[in-house]
Amino acid sequence: MQQQRRLLFAALAVVVVAVLGLTVVMKVWSPSRPAIGGALSGPRVEPSQQATVAYRVRSGDTIAAILQRFGVPASQVISAGREHYDLARINTGRTLTVGYTRGVGHASSLRYPMDGDGDSTLVVRWDEQAQAWSAAVEQVQYERELVSRRFQIESSLWNAALGAGLRPDDVVRLAEIFQWDIDFNTELHQGDTFSMVADGLYLDGELRKLGDIHAVQLQAKDAPLVAIRHLGASGDVGYFDPDGKARRKPFLRSPLAFSRVSSGFAPGGRFHPVTGKRRPHNGTDFAAPTGTPVRSVGGGVVTAAGRAGGYGLLVRIRHDGGYESGYAHLSKILVRKGQRVSQGDTIGKVGSTGLSTGPHCHYELKLNGGYIDPLKAKLPVSVPLPQGERDAFAAERDRWLPVLLEAALLEPEGQPEVGE
Ligand SMILES: [Zn+2]
Repeated sequence: MQQQRRLLFAALAVVVVAVLGLTVVMKVWSPSRPAIGGALSGPRVEPSQQATVAYRVRSGDTIAAILQRFGVPASQVISAGREHYDLARINTGRTLTVGYTRGVGHASSLRYPMDGDGDSTLVVRWDEQAQAWSAAVEQVQYERELVSRRFQIESSLWNAALGAGLRPDDVVRLAEIFQWDIDFNTELHQGDTFSMVADGLYLDGELRKLGDIHAVQLQAKDAPLVAIRHLGASGDVGYFDPDGKARRKPFLRSPLAFSRVSSGFAPGGRFHPVTGKRRPHNGTDFAAPTGTPVRSVGGGVVTAAGRAGGYGLLVRIRHDGGYESGYAHLSKILVRKGQRVSQGDTIGKVGSTGLSTGPHCHYELKLNGGYIDPLKAKLPVSVPLPQGERDAFAAERDRWLPVLLEAALLEPEGQPEVGE
């Protein structure tokens, strides 16, 4: 009984606060409407001069419709913002904030995050004196501090890295550094460790994300793989081993990228490494949920894109040097015959078409018409650094390698605590 009464009071309080809040907003930007809440008794609340409303963009929304709904003069605001950002390109899921000021007959500001991280925000403000809108970009000012981490794989790379305080996007970036060497969906094992040195970007003393990743080591059961960041003369960033050989190679290790989907966060069930085991045949099978993007392992030209008997929906791509890759049982094909693709381009989606017992990508590689095992064959190797960049790289290596080796001696982080 006591409990119920308390709940009722709480609910009433929420309603009162909500109505008061709404009154503030309505008085400010819609003065023609009758003010509600005048009949409410209780403590007088002095309404502040400012109020804001947040709105999360839904799929199908247009910026004009949203702005109209919140009393923002759409065309003026969009054109004021255009010098920094085209508001017509609003993204589903981002939250825009509309501000109201007492005495102004329409909304007085709009804030929109220009990137997914919210690092840059477009702010369009109404200047009452000038009777005009003006736009600016607010940039989050991170504090930069070197971050060394070592973490050990227990259940998945995902869990280990998140346990070490990394964000999902940073885990994907780490995995991408080794995507020519390792299939992260099937080739990592319990006990493998990652060590890394990176710029940590901090806000209010809290690590928010990684900036530049300077050096990484993956200690799997074979020799450790080391990657050191190099800023090339052309401005591209690449990763190289200590001898100056690029981690990037003509062929990716796997047609499936390391993804959240394949590492335990699929709503349709957990992807287990065991189900991704390869069977010996003319190709390599990668189990993955239907719809997982399949990427071209290398740059080339599409030689087949369509239905092909037991292969189901099949894509074949011809690469330099007499190589041809094939991707079968797709649920969807996203390329046309004759089309040129780059390494990593999504060419289709995982499916179970043709002779297949469950969703997977059958991946095969041929050299001069004969099948080869993409995981064992000697594939073309990476190109070494151009002569003119070797000194610059040596300096980067000599700076970061010792720090990395120190990180590799840290106590591993990210191990889930398991009760005995
Ligand atoms: Zn197969």
